[in-house]
Amino acid sequence: MDLLDTLTAKGLRGEVPTREEALAVLATTDDELLDVVAAAGKVRRRWFGRRVKLNYLVNLKSGLCPEDCSYCSQRLGSKAEILKYTWLKPEQAADAARAGVAGGAKRVCLVASGRGPTDRDIDRVTDTMAAIKDADPEVEICVCLGLLSDNQAERLKAAGADAYNHNLNTSENTYGTITKTHTYADRVDTVQKAHGAGLSACSGLIAGMGESDEDLVDVVFALRELGSDSVPVNFLIPFEGTPLAKEWNLTPQRCLRILAMVRFVNPDTEVRIAGGREVHLRSMQPLGLHIANSIFLGDYLTSEGQAGQTDLDMIKDAGFEVEGAGEATLPRHRADVAEAAAAGSCGTAASACGSGGGCGPCGGHSHPEPAPVEEGTDEELRSDLVKVRRRGAGTELAPNA
Ligand code: SF4
Repeated sequence: MDLLDTLTAKGLRGEVPTREEALAVLATTDDELLDVVAAAGKVRRRWFGRRVKLNYLVNLKSGLCPEDCSYCSQRLGSKAEILKYTWLKPEQAADAARAGVAGGAKRVCLVASGRGPTDRDIDRVTDTMAAIKDADPEVEICVCLGLLSDNQAERLKAAGADAYNHNLNTSENTYGTITKTHTYADRVDTVQKAHGAGLSACSGLIAGMGESDEDLVDVVFALRELGSDSVPVNFLIPFEGTPLAKEWNLTPQRCLRILAMVRFVNPDTEVRIAGGREVHLRSMQPLGLHIANSIFLGDYLTSEGQAGQTDLDMIKDAGFEVEGAGEATLPRHRADVAEAAAAGSCGTAASACGSGGGCGPCGGHSHPEPAPVEEGTDEELRSDLVKVRRRGAGTELAPNA
């Protein structure tokens, strides 16, 4: 298949495909799916070998957000019956982080709901990072606190943060239909602030919100241009009690095509299968590891993932290995770009310098002329697959790691 040969060759050279080629990946058929995974797998192995980076989420403050992001169980007016609590104490957060690191996580992701942090919140997170790094100086810390004001990224960097997460989520064109309380430009600004302060930029997307293929390609190219070092690919978890609760329009096959497209556009960037992995990829999760080089261990912010040990067993059974604390995640040339940005000298245009949720299987029966299946119309509501988190941070129960 010419398309896949071209994409593989470009990916092995670290080149970005054309927009048309990226769209063509999303248009491939189920019969072509394993070839798509194999091609993306070659690119993944070129830059990341068989390593899988594990990341562990600690929800520092859950729910009660004044923002209205339609996909989010913590949003203003959300009826989702999630855990709601205010800031964890540093020792509580450090205990949760320690469980993740003990389970194999290399990076701890400290997340708090809200539009953005106050300066007092930066103090709290500073104390929390100190407590975590006291126990394990090697651990990478990524902070996710929403929109940043001037100088907050610099304060987080000085306090020991390694990375900042702020997802673009969807295309600029559709952003206004998903969220009204802030803009796409606000999000870009925060990613640039983080990058400009020398923090590694972690920024990704959410698929399954009713977006078009063009929207997906737009946001993935935008992330490449922003110079995101890690790209979390979330698959919408349609929480009951949120406006997108009925958006069950992803199939495992669609998720794999999306992951492959993200990999081809970001050949040498950390691509992470994020929220919705178990809900939407289901038994196809191991194939996702052939494309992405990073996952979250255990639970998510407000929903439960599969058992941490099951994550580890899956990685081993699929022939991959957990990335160790002493191993570099990004290829050397990508690290150089990040260092240049931190030093204030623009490396490449891609560095954004400037200051910073299955279709019914035919079950093996022969159908000479199968009726065309339109993706997004035949997925039954599978709210039984969404389990609200009731353990770990903010509870008396042990974390899943
Ligand atoms: S700002 Fe964050 S926590 Fe608040 S509704 Fe949006 S995604 Fe959820």
